[in-house]
Amino acid sequence: MTQHGTMARQAATRTSADGAGRCWFCDDAARTDPPPTGWLYDDGMWRAGHAPVGHSIPGTVILEAHRHVLDQVELNQNERTSLADVTARLISAIKSATGCDRVYQWATMDGYPHFHVWLLPWWESASLRGPRYLVASVFGDAEPAQREQAIAMADAIRRAL
Ligand SMILES: [Zn+2]
Repeated sequence: MTQHGTMARQAATRTSADGAGRCWFCDDAARTDPPPTGWLYDDGMWRAGHAPVGHSIPGTVILEAHRHVLDQVELNQNERTSLADVTARLISAIKSATGCDRVYQWATMDGYPHFHVWLLPWWESASLRGPRYLVASVFGDAEPAQREQAIAMADAIRRAL
């Protein structure tokens, strides 16, 4: 299943924009692609896992709120104050595990109106930067080597957290 196919199926199963329908992030039965090697982080408010294989480059982590909220406006005070800390912890772990120079952050809530942030490693040696790098780093099909790399990277990030 490609990312675009998955997203199209997800959109087809969504019955409303307010969370009344099945949400890929809230409903484990609807989550067709769990994070490889399981969750890297979970404190009850936030959880994070490596991006599903085939959705992004190895080393990409998706941070998501446990609660079904759209964006920072709907976060409670505890979530607001802890978001920067958990994001910083994940960025440090991604840098340590991948040796990247920056960690790009990308949040559109396009597939589902549930707060989640993509954290992607970026290197100075990359031929692309900014939004072009983000677009080129997210793709529909993973080569077998990328599956192995994603699993190895998830393990390395877990050890660095
Ligand atoms: Zn949700």
